Amino acid sequence: MNAIYDVVIIGGGVSGMMAAISLAEKGRKVAVISKGDPVCCFSTGCIDVLADGDDPLKGIGSLPDNHPYHLVGEEAVAHSLELFRGIMSDGGMPYVGEVHANRKVLASLGRCKITCLVPETMAFSAFDPDEYLHVVSFYKMKDFYPQYITSRYANAGYSVFDAQVTTTAGIAEKFENRPFLETFISWLQGLDIPEGRIAIPAVLGRSLAGDVYHEISAGCGRKIFEIPTLPPSMPGLRLFDILKKALLQKGVNLYWGRGIYSVEKLGNQIEAVTLAGAGRATRVEGKAFILASGSFVSGGLHASMDAVTETVFDLPTYLPGGRETWFNDDFFAAGHEIEKAGVRVDSSFRPVDTKIENLYVCGSILAFSEVMKYRCGHGMAIATGVAAAEACGGPV
Ligand SMILES: Cc1cc2nc3c(=O)[nH]c(=O)nc-3n(C[C@H](O)[C@H](O)[C@H](O)COP(=O)(O)OP(=O)(O)OC[C@H]3O[C@@H](n4cnc5c(N)ncnc54)[C@H](O)[C@@H]3O)c2cc1C
Repeated sequence: MNAIYDVVIIGGGVSGMMAAISLAEKGRKVAVISKGDPVCCFSTGCIDVLADGDDPLKGIGSLPDNHPYHLVGEEAVAHSLELFRGIMSDGGMPYVGEVHANRKVLASLGRCKITCLVPETMAFSAFDPDEYLHVVSFYKMKDFYPQYITSRYANAGYSVFDAQVTTTAGIAEKFENRPFLETFISWLQGLDIPEGRIAIPAVLGRSLAGDVYHEISAGCGRKIFEIPTLPPSMPGLRLFDILKKALLQKGVNLYWGRGIYSVEKLGNQIEAVTLAGAGRATRVEGKAFILASGSFVSGGLHASMDAVTETVFDLPTYLPGGRETWFNDDFFAAGHEIEKAGVRVDSSFRPVDTKIENLYVCGSILAFSEVMKYRCGHGMAIATGVAAAEACGGPV
């Protein structure tokens, strides 16, 4: 006989995983179904909360009234970020930063990105432009060009190490090998680098990154920091690994690599979902459901020529006018109208304009979240994930 879960979460992104962890911590029986790996794997791993202004939490007050952050509230956003920090710290990759302060991290093209919480491997990323910056790169490393960075700073230089592999993942794997790490540290010690900071692309291991980072820092006696790279991004993958591991440790059941084939309803309740996949169908029954299936990138929303649909429950979606209004002429401008598309919810994170009573929604699928415009990606996912979990609670 199939298990009946208190809460079934659809989507294993930051929002779904944070919802699952907070429910499991309260003793709820939880399942997470995810058809694929989430967007955080492509991300810098930094937690953008709200990029405008110095204090991201205060900035929430000036967002449009319909922004999902208002449903959570400043205090609860701060609480959810602390919960996140606890999980990452337990997982061996503490995050640094202050929830009331934005900070800068150096990005791979030499500009700085505004964010809020960062993995400790980027703690020293905010540097004074007058201070000497030394960038370490790797021979023929793909998509990382130290000259892009050093050309922007008057007081900067670079060196290149031959790791014998050229991909981000390949170099990261090598750093978890002791002889390689020791050879790299000796090489670094032998360089005549002026007083200042040392920046290294984010390839310092995957599961052992914290240890690798500390050993290199101690070995060269300098402030070193990682520069997030283009995807695949090691800090994003580390974030994903730690959240997923925390789910398993807390007894959450994972159905990974499985999409939803069908939905069973009884009256105003969703009773179960059946998972797509080869062989025998799996039926997952729940008392409550949380939809955390992401936006267009992850397939939670689908855009045709003139409509946007929600792909699991066919929920009504908000659409900002006809297709001619969806995009700006300037493609790279932040704030294309289509970013407002998504599922509208009430103050309990229940979808509006539907009779379903036991469904809650969180993360980037929420209407009006405008993640790119406000640069609030993971922050909004964490805050609404925890808030939707609170709202649904699920019977014990
Ligand atoms: C390239 C890129 C880089 C980014 N970088 C940053 C950054 O550095 N910092 C930051 O704060 N934010 C960043 N963001 C934004 C941030 O990553 C997202 O807003 C946030 O992580 C979204 O989380 P989510 O849980 O809502 O959804 P997602 O991460 O999209 O997860 C949704 C999950 O649901 C699953 N799913 C979808 N449909 C189904 C289905 N039918 N059945 C089962 N599962 C399903 C998907 O496979 C996926 O795993 C970035 C976004 C992108 C695209």
